[in-house]
Amino acid sequence: MKIVVCIKQVPDTNEVKLDPKTGTLIRDGVPSIINHDDKNALEEAIKLKDKYQNVHITVLTMGPPQADVALREALAMGADRAILVSDRAFAGSDTWATARTIAAAVRKIGEYDLIFCGRQAIDGDTAQVGPQLAEYLNLPQVTYVKHLEINGEKVTVERALEDGYEVLETTLPCLLTTIKELNEPRYANVRGIFDAYKEKTVEMWTANDIKIAADQTGLNASPTNVKQTFTPSPKGQGTILCGCDKDTICELMCKLQEKHII
Ligand SMILES: Cc1cc2nc3c(=O)[nH]c(=O)nc-3n(C[C@H](O)[C@H](O)[C@H](O)COP(=O)(O)OP(=O)(O)OC[C@H]3O[C@@H](n4cnc5c(N)ncnc54)[C@H](O)[C@@H]3O)c2cc1C
Repeated sequence: MKIVVCIKQVPDTNEVKLDPKTGTLIRDGVPSIINHDDKNALEEAIKLKDKYQNVHITVLTMGPPQADVALREALAMGADRAILVSDRAFAGSDTWATARTIAAAVRKIGEYDLIFCGRQAIDGDTAQVGPQLAEYLNLPQVTYVKHLEINGEKVTVERALEDGYEVLETTLPCLLTTIKELNEPRYANVRGIFDAYKEKTVEMWTANDIKIAADQTGLNASPTNVKQTFTPSPKGQGTILCGCDKDTICELMCKLQEKHII
């Protein structure tokens, strides 16, 4: 089975602050990490490799040259091949152009049975790239995957909903987007880290390599315009009601009714 895992290098948002005057992110000195949901995607691919024979994992990212570090970490965790899709022509891509560019890279990879994406990137936060990628590649997709079983060509997943989950079946090849409930990502061991830097390579593909036309990627191919960014004002302090006597419960019911919650 050939698996492609799309990972994005993101700023560690625990460390990111917003400039209150300009409303833009202060990125200086902020460490970069592999997006959390993408680590769950990678972990699931590695679990499949542990379970079945002949599983090959390619990790793919579109990003600047520094994204090499994220790919090395993925190799150290257990991926077999790493591809960095990087070109000045990609600068300013919105999700539409990003997904088109990744789709072109996946087409160049050629053979694949399963594509994993994280549900959502913690910086861009749109959750659009996975579903768009599936559309461009004409693949069935299931989002918000919290459990996965593969039996031959059949893929059975539990897909998280707000109030539970649904069980869906699809067939390979397909694209799945993953959430943190799926698994606990492993840490890379020392041997893995050593191999990732000494034995393994990260392939670098440009726009020319993936044969993407200039009008399909980058700023000019991006229909999204960011009109404004701002820091939301802090929420007011909540109200705490103590006790489970009749009066407290009545008070709670009144408050919920006032706010049209019930
Ligand atoms: C108008 C506009 C201009 C922009 N200009 C720039 C810019 O100049 N430079 C810049 O860095 N960003 C830019 N962005 C942000 C960029 O569009 C997003 O980072 C990118 O499209 C991914 O969207 P997202 O972060 O919402 O990912 P999501 O859709 O939330 O990500 C879902 C999943 O898709 C996969 N994925 C997402 N992005 C990648 C990737 N790059 N490689 C591999 N897998 C991926 C991951 O598995 C991820 O978990 C711009 C956005 C807009 C709207």
